[in-house]
Amino acid sequence: MKIAFFELEDWEKGYIAERVHNQDIRYYDVPVAQAPLEEIKDVDIITCFIYSKLNKELLEKFTNLKLIATMSTGFDHIDLEYCKEKGIVVCNVPAYGDNTVAEHAFGLLLNLSKNIHKGYKKTREGDFSYDGLRGFDLKNKTIGVLGTGRIGQCSIKIAKGFQMNVIAYDPFQKDSLQEELGFVYKSLDEVLAESDIITIHVPLLPTTNHLINKEAIDKMKDGVIIINTSRGPLIDTEALITGLQTGKVGGAGLDVLEGENIVKDELDFIKSHTSYTKEQLKLVMQDHTLMKMDNVLVTPHLAFYTKEALQRILDTTLTNVFDCIEGRDYKHQVNK
Ligand code: NAD
Repeated sequence: MKIAFFELEDWEKGYIAERVHNQDIRYYDVPVAQAPLEEIKDVDIITCFIYSKLNKELLEKFTNLKLIATMSTGFDHIDLEYCKEKGIVVCNVPAYGDNTVAEHAFGLLLNLSKNIHKGYKKTREGDFSYDGLRGFDLKNKTIGVLGTGRIGQCSIKIAKGFQMNVIAYDPFQKDSLQEELGFVYKSLDEVLAESDIITIHVPLLPTTNHLINKEAIDKMKDGVIIINTSRGPLIDTEALITGLQTGKVGGAGLDVLEGENIVKDELDFIKSHTSYTKEQLKLVMQDHTLMKMDNVLVTPHLAFYTKEALQRILDTTLTNVFDCIEGRDYKHQVNK
């Protein structure tokens, strides 16, 4: 089979070469849309990461595609409906580091609560004063967990370790978890109103786009801390900026941004001849505003990026690829 692996690191190419034999393998460091179409349009299998936006317009150019194996849990970058219609299987990596992402969420929270990012900057400049560095304890604070799936559950376990009071919202409650992990399910409005800290672990769906908008922020406690390691568009950036500017929101830890795809490749953005919409340009400016704010910590979609998690991602992706090569039932298909 002809297999195109996109967005890989060098060590991953070596690992694949040792394991996948007798296939026509191509490696591309770039996302799918930036690879030469003539070379890839007849591939059987694509593996890629979230920066490959596989929309209908791009997918229509492929003549032979059987499998898209995304090296991520989220698959909102792929047009699932189109794939289903054309019989293209889409597989993901359902679980590779639930703890990995939850640990990052707490990394952001601990930094914000103890002002570590500010203290780090100060000491590098030789300033050992406490000015603007007073933090707060996590113990006895109420944390609201939105989404009690795999990552949400890990966040709950970590929060319990810090002796926090945990409440959660999920439209598909798993009631037995409450006793098992020691938290209470509440309505979305209750979680918004009662939490000192809100951490988002919800998938991006049409129904969850801008889940945290102006109305939601208005319902929150004054000074609430918002952590988002899930997907940028879950938060309405403009509403968040307003909340931060007015002090309604006390701080934000963001591993994901609404405009992250453009911000990530700003040089391309500046040089490219693509015409961007007014909304896209606005998002880029808003993201820059966020990144400059003192009480905001932005990381570059980094939560999954640990040695252990990357290895698990690659191994599961190879399982997905071998399911296709060997005609086995797919274990991780998301568009049945
Ligand atoms: P999961 O599918 O195990 O859990 C998601 C949970 O959200 C489910 O329990 C679901 O019922 C719930 N949910 C759905 N709609 C909701 C709503 N409107 N309000 C509250 N809860 C809702 O997913 P997961 O493995 O825990 O991952 C969560 C998300 O984290 C992924 O969708 C992905 O976008 C993101 N993620 C980010 C990174 C990163 O590097 N930053 C890495 C992995 C995953």
